[in-house]
Amino acid sequence: MSKNRDSNDSRARALLLRVFFRTLAILMLFTVILFNFKSSLQVYSVMSLASTMNSLDSDSLAAYGLLYDIIFFFCVLIAIHIIWSGIITVSTRSPWFPLKSKNQKELYWMLFVVLNITCLIAVNSYFFPTSLVSYFRHTPVSEPLVWGGLASFLVISFYRGLFHLTTKSVALCISLLLIAGVLSPFISISQTRAQAQKDPNIIILGIDGLRPDHLKYLGADPKIAPNLNRVLDSMTVYKNAYTPQGRTYVAWMSLLTGKYPVNNGIRFNLAPPEMVNKTLPFIELLKERGYNTTYAIDERRFNQIDSSYGFNNTVGPKAGAADALISGLGDLPYLNILLLHPYSSYILPYLYNNRAYGKAYSPIAFNKAVIESLAHEAPNFLALHYCQLHWPYTSKDFISQPLENWDGNYNHYMYKEMIRSVDKQVADLFARLSQEGMLDDAIVYIISDHGESFKLPTFKTPVPQNLKAFPKTKSWGHGTNILDQQQSLILLARAEFKNGTVVTPAQKIDGLYSLVDIVPTLVSSLAISSTGISSASASRLNTASFDGITLPWTAEQVSHQRYVVVESSVPVKSINKSFIDKKEVMSETASNYEVRDDGKAYMRTKNYIELIAKKQRAIYFQNWQLSLLPDYDSPVLLNTATNEIYDTDNYRGDFNWQPMMRALCSQYKEDPGFDPHASCTEFIISHNTRN
Ligand SMILES: [Zn+2]
Repeated sequence: MSKNRDSNDSRARALLLRVFFRTLAILMLFTVILFNFKSSLQVYSVMSLASTMNSLDSDSLAAYGLLYDIIFFFCVLIAIHIIWSGIITVSTRSPWFPLKSKNQKELYWMLFVVLNITCLIAVNSYFFPTSLVSYFRHTPVSEPLVWGGLASFLVISFYRGLFHLTTKSVALCISLLLIAGVLSPFISISQTRAQAQKDPNIIILGIDGLRPDHLKYLGADPKIAPNLNRVLDSMTVYKNAYTPQGRTYVAWMSLLTGKYPVNNGIRFNLAPPEMVNKTLPFIELLKERGYNTTYAIDERRFNQIDSSYGFNNTVGPKAGAADALISGLGDLPYLNILLLHPYSSYILPYLYNNRAYGKAYSPIAFNKAVIESLAHEAPNFLALHYCQLHWPYTSKDFISQPLENWDGNYNHYMYKEMIRSVDKQVADLFARLSQEGMLDDAIVYIISDHGESFKLPTFKTPVPQNLKAFPKTKSWGHGTNILDQQQSLILLARAEFKNGTVVTPAQKIDGLYSLVDIVPTLVSSLAISSTGISSASASRLNTASFDGITLPWTAEQVSHQRYVVVESSVPVKSINKSFIDKKEVMSETASNYEVRDDGKAYMRTKNYIELIAKKQRAIYFQNWQLSLLPDYDSPVLLNTATNEIYDTDNYRGDFNWQPMMRALCSQYKEDPGFDPHASCTEFIISHNTRN
C-alpha cells in the first residue's frame, strides 16, 4: 500500500517536472521570438553594436568586469524564466474544472501559458507604451480593468495550485514573504528633520544640456518649462555663465573641485583612472562637518562619478561598458515590469533608473530614489543630475508636443518635448524636498552642464570682419565647438531657502561666471575654515587654490574685470550631424577607448594626452571672446554683443585684447601640443619688441 503511494508520488513529481520543463522551453522560445522581432525593427542591432565594441579591442570584451556583468545579466534572465515557469506549473495543479483526458490537461496548460504571456504584454503595454514589444498598446487588453482582472485570476489560480501542492502553513509563509517583499519598499514613513541643525542642506540640481535661451529669463516662451521658470523667478540668476567644458563629467568635476579642467587634470569624459584624483577636498570637508553626501545621476555612460569619489551615497544606474549592450538587449516585457519595483536595482543594476534605457525610465521613480538617500538627522549635500535632455531624447511616454512646435529639426523638436518632461521632474522634486522638510534651511543651485547646438536657422552666424578664412561657428551637439556660443552658455542660479521659501533676492545678475564658482561660494557661505573641522582639513582647503570666485549677491559686488576660460572636448565627426548613428560614433571613437578589468570603458592614456593638443581654447572678458583653434592659424576675436568676428591680425578696433591673450596663453602653456601655430610665442615676441 505505502509502496503504491510512493510510486504515485514519484509519478506525480515526474509529471510536475515534465510540465515545468515544457513551460520553461516555451517561455524561452517566447523570449527568442521577442529578440528576433526587436532586431528586425531596430536601426542597429545589439549584436552589431557588440561587434563594433569588439573591434574596440579583442581583449576589451574579455575584461573581467564586463564579462561578469554580462554573465550576471544572462543569469538573471534565466532565473526569471525558471521562476515564471514554476509559477505557471503550480497554477495548473488545481484546475478550476475536472480535466478528464490527457488532451484536456494539455489544453488547460496551454491556456495558462497563453494567458500568462497575454497578461505580461498587456501590463507592459499599459506602463511602457513606447516599448517595442507593447503589442497591445491602445487596445482594450491594455486597460487596467482587463489586465487587472486577468492578473487577479492568474494569482488566485497560482494560490489554488500552491495550496494543493503543499500544506496550508507553507503556502501561507510563502504568501507572507512575497507580500512583504513586494510591498515593503513602497511603505514610506514620512519623516521630518529630527532637530534644528546648525548647517543648511546644500542641493545642486544639474539639468543636462539645458540651454538658457529656452528659459523665460532669456526671452523664451515661458510655457516651454513652466515649473522651472517659476522656481527661477524666485532665484538669483547669473545671466552670463559658462561651462568650463561642454561635457558632463568634466563640467561636474570642475564644479566639485572649483577648478578648471587644466588645473584639476580632468580633460575628457571617461578619463583613465590614473589621470584622476578622486579625492574631492570639499566633499571630504562636508563629511567631516557631519554632512550626508549624495551624488545622483540617471545615466552613467559618460559620467562615472560614484561612491569612489567619496560620496556617502550614489543614486542611479551602475557605470560600466555593459550598459550599452544590456540596454540594447533589455526591452523585454518582464524586465520592464520588474523595473517598476525598487528592488530591481539589485538584479538589474544597469537598467534601473537609467535614463539611457529610455523606454522604462521613470523620472518620478528616480526622484523617489534620490529622496530616499537623504538623511533626516544630518544636513545633506545633494548633487543631482538629470539627463533626460541628452540625446537620444527617448521617453517611456508618447510625444505630447503640439505639432506647431515642429521647426523642421527633429532633434530640436524632441529636445523641446524632453524639456517638458524634465520640467515636470523638477516640479516633483521640489514638492518632495519641501514635503520632507529639506527646504526648511537650504542652499539651492540650479545649473546646466552645457548647452546643445541644433544648427537652428534662428541662430545668428557671427559677421566676419576681414577674416582670412571663416572658422566654423556652427556645430551639432555640445563640447565640440567653442565659437558656437549655444554650447557653452549655461544656466546658473542660486537661492537660500528658509521654511520652504526663498529668502534671498529674486534678480538677474550681470558679469561673467563659471561652474567653478559654486564651491568657493559655498565654502565662504558656510565659513567652513572657521568652525567645526580639523586643522588638517582646514589647511587642505586653504591650500586648494580655487579658479572660481565667490558669486555676488548684489549688482554692486559684480566685478567687470573677470576672465572666464572655456575649452572644447574632442571633435567627433560622426556626432556633428543631425542623425547620430551609434555604430558610426562607436567605430570613429572606439579606438580611443578601452574596457578595463573593472568593466568600465576609459579613454586610453596615450590618446588622452594626444587629444589634449586638439582642443579649442577660449577666454571671455566682458563682451569679448578670444579663441585659439588648432585648425585655424590666427587667434579669433568675437564680440558677443555685436556678433562680429575678427582675426586678431586684422582687428583695428579700440578694444585691448592683449591682456586676454596673455591670460589664455599662460592658462594653457603646460598643455602637451598646445598652440600649434605658435600664436602665443609670436604674441610674446611682438609684444616685447613693441615695448
Ligand atoms: Zn551633459
